[in-house]
Amino acid sequence: MLYAREIRTTFETFEGRCPHCQQWIIFNRLENLDDAVQIDFAEVTCLNEACRQPFAINGDTVDPPFAQMLFSAFPLMDRKQYGDATVAICRSYEMFFAHSLYEMLVWQPFVGERYEPDPVKTAERPEAARAKALFDGSRDIIWTLADELRVRYAAI
Ligand SMILES: [Zn+2]
Repeated sequence: MLYAREIRTTFETFEGRCPHCQQWIIFNRLENLDDAVQIDFAEVTCLNEACRQPFAINGDTVDPPFAQMLFSAFPLMDRKQYGDATVAICRSYEMFFAHSLYEMLVWQPFVGERYEPDPVKTAERPEAARAKALFDGSRDIIWTLADELRVRYAAI
């Protein structure tokens, strides 16, 4: 099996030069690669209609998605696409905070308690209390806005 020797990766795509037709083939991770986050090895079929030969791809980045998103801002800055770069950076921060919550609330209890977490201790952890306060605060804001809109539009 031939490999794509030249590759480029982004948060959403894995691009590789087909070893048969030499075309750059763009695989969307969701559409073409079964939502693969990181590809150690995959057998793919060239998307060039005139080629359609199988080849292998590997060598994907190991950066978490928030870092990939942040790195995607650099070429945008080089092309002076500052608006798109700002959006990419904001998305990166959003993904970083979601990643942090996931790590703290899902994985940290397993690691800290040697993969046998006590449900009572887990609920009493400071991270759980902070997450609950954050959730409760966000929920209160949404309910307040929804109630304001309900009152405002009920009067029309
Ligand atoms: Zn090809």
